[in-house]
Amino acid sequence: MLNVALFGPPGAGKGTQSEFLIKKYNLFYISTGDLLRKEIAKKSKFGLEAQSTIAAGGLVSDEIIVQIIEKTITENPDSNGFLFDGFPRTYIQAYILEGLMLKLNTSLDCLICLDVPEEESVKRLLNRGKSSGRSDDNEIVIRNRLKEYEQKTLPVLQFYKEKGIYIGVDGTQSIEDVNTQITETIKQILSKKLLNIVLFGYPGCGRGSQGKALAAHFGLEYVATGAMLDEEIKIGSDVGLKIKELYESGQLVPDEIVVPLMEKKLSNSKDAKGFIFKGFPRTLVQSYILDGLLRKHGSSISKIIEIEVPTLELISRLDARSKTGKSMPYDSSTAKIVKRLQEHETKTVPVIEKYNQLHGVTKINGMGEFDEVFQRLAFEIENGFKNIR
Ligand code: AMP
Repeated sequence: MLNVALFGPPGAGKGTQSEFLIKKYNLFYISTGDLLRKEIAKKSKFGLEAQSTIAAGGLVSDEIIVQIIEKTITENPDSNGFLFDGFPRTYIQAYILEGLMLKLNTSLDCLICLDVPEEESVKRLLNRGKSSGRSDDNEIVIRNRLKEYEQKTLPVLQFYKEKGIYIGVDGTQSIEDVNTQITETIKQILSKKLLNIVLFGYPGCGRGSQGKALAAHFGLEYVATGAMLDEEIKIGSDVGLKIKELYESGQLVPDEIVVPLMEKKLSNSKDAKGFIFKGFPRTLVQSYILDGLLRKHGSSISKIIEIEVPTLELISRLDARSKTGKSMPYDSSTAKIVKRLQEHETKTVPVIEKYNQLHGVTKINGMGEFDEVFQRLAFEIENGFKNIR
């Protein structure tokens, strides 16, 4: 996700720049001013409460703002990112935003402040007032809005300066120049962001082979807990012997074994552009572990994909594999295959459902030739990030 807040006095050009940014980066636009004007038009409870404050150029209460903004954010969890315009406008709202981002397991990437002197703001807003139809675009109210900005909104900047994500831009430059400067800044931020993909699907759906191919194609690190565990078996470590026993009885390997191996893998991949996780998280507990591991690296999940293949086809693929040299210890008999499919059903399907509610899960048809499925997956990954990387 890419989350940006556009900041600046009324008339700084936030609306104009927003139009361009939401298109370029495929972001979901949240303007608290627009949301409030919609509430007023609907004559809702919030609208009626906010109406007189807006008309006078004051700031609407944080209680109203938090509710309208939370609703909008939680209704769009699968967006590529958010662009906030006119929010946060108070120090309290800066904390509200932190909490909202945390809830989506993401964070604000930058706050871009368009600096414009007071008289320039007044001139621009009076000009806009001729066609905007906004009753608050008149001189008395404009002066009051600027006073509110000075007193209540400017202190917010300190919050973001301390966090190290404040970016100041001279808003008196031409629209194009402001644009270029913002784009350059975002480009730098994006180049440092990790692209983390979680690949789901029943055993036999092709997650492994596709995951490896996707990682190579996009220059990402492939993290397969299965392969990491196999490696331990191969080198004959104590952990490896334990894992072998568990595999043979068709059971999942406990988190106490998996987590340190994951930690090692992430820490050893300092130069990675991102990760493709396959076979992890497999349980609800592991979904929290993954959030924690990524957060420790200042990152989060970027995209979740599930490869779908009908059950009979899965059984037939796993059965075919069991008769080849590629047979894994856990698919050496029909009973073990069925057990693995059941484990997925009871433990991993709830994880996919949780992610579906929280972030949205993209379903990909796993039937057909390898290359066809690969193209579908690659298209999805590129599509989600085409403007981001
Ligand atoms: P805007 O469209 O951003 O210029 O907002 C118009 C008016 O809506 C402001 O002058 C405030 O009265 C109100 N408003 C918009 N966003 C907020 C916010 N985050 N907090 C408080 N009041 C807001």
